[in-house]
Amino acid sequence: MRDLKEYRIATTAGEAVAMLKAGPGKGRYIAGGTDMYLYHPDCDFVVDINQAGLGGIAGTDQGDILIGAATPLQDCFNSDLLQKFAGGEVCKVAGQCGNRPIRTTATIGGNICNALPSADMAPVLMALDAVCFIVDEECQEIVPLNEFFLGPRKTVLDKRLLAGLALPNDVAGWVCETYKLTRSAEDIALVQVAVSMAVEDGALANVRIALGSVAPVPMRCHLAEEQLAGIKLEEITPDLVEIVSVIAAGECDPIDDHRASAEYRTDMVRVLTKRLICRVLAGHGIESCTETDPTDGDHGGVA
Ligand SMILES: Cc1cc2nc3c(=O)[nH]c(=O)nc-3n(C[C@H](O)[C@H](O)[C@H](O)COP(=O)(O)OP(=O)(O)OC[C@H]3O[C@@H](n4cnc5c(N)ncnc54)[C@H](O)[C@@H]3O)c2cc1C
Repeated sequence: MRDLKEYRIATTAGEAVAMLKAGPGKGRYIAGGTDMYLYHPDCDFVVDINQAGLGGIAGTDQGDILIGAATPLQDCFNSDLLQKFAGGEVCKVAGQCGNRPIRTTATIGGNICNALPSADMAPVLMALDAVCFIVDEECQEIVPLNEFFLGPRKTVLDKRLLAGLALPNDVAGWVCETYKLTRSAEDIALVQVAVSMAVEDGALANVRIALGSVAPVPMRCHLAEEQLAGIKLEEITPDLVEIVSVIAAGECDPIDDHRASAEYRTDMVRVLTKRLICRVLAGHGIESCTETDPTDGDHGGVA
């Protein structure tokens, strides 16, 4: 942002979109600015959304949870509402992003909109069926987070603004488990896995397996999910869980880089998916996975 010419401050979501579209030149929204500080995107002006009424976490009468796009990650970490939702995994993951000074500034919206394969909040929110509220100057669209990412740093937004995210009430009782594998506490993830599911009428339902850092965008493993959905509890075996984990590993498409090889990341998807499925099943009182979990009690850590 070395050639930045103007810093605009929006007071509503609609005004933010209008300011961005007004030009002249190339504009960008700015929330916490922590990601933009790292990669210095080209732009002539920025539109600050921190005073546009987009911060905060609230429950609706229907029991959904709304998270404003400009809510700092530290507020997500500390939220009592989120703590009570699906075992509090959203809080846990927010608390693993960077360090406390970063989380105090960095927003959940910025984390999603930077659309990095390693964006920490994406897998857990995808595993919990989060939806995005996207605003244009005069209309609003609701898009499942699962359909939000188009490629690295590419989303469906174009010049529109992410106003916030919602977690649906009917997901609140699902059991969810996540794991962030990383080289150090403040580094980005080598692999992230989030698994969630419900039990209905003695069978597994709503199975979600979401991954981060192992494909151009955060992704769901639909083929692996299909193997578990509808399976009766008495039919769950360690072999089935192993097969599902191998299928999940086959669905990802990681890169080799200085942090880890593609081969290592793929195998970690298999290992972590298996462990998390077993933990989720245990959370539902199903002790079908007999494998000893060497990371038992550890919910994210250093490779
Ligand atoms: C030291 C350090 C450590 C970090 N560690 C982690 C980590 O562990 N895990 C992790 O995931 N990230 C990490 N990050 C990256 C970054 O801090 C986070 O992704 C953060 O959540 C980004 O939020 P922000 O509000 O600062 O985004 P910004 O920098 O303000 O914006 C990021 C991008 O999103 C766009 N944008 C922001 N808000 C909106 C909106 N509402 N609508 C449309 N577009 C929008 C901006 O135009 C920009 O392109 C780290 C960064 C630093 C500097």
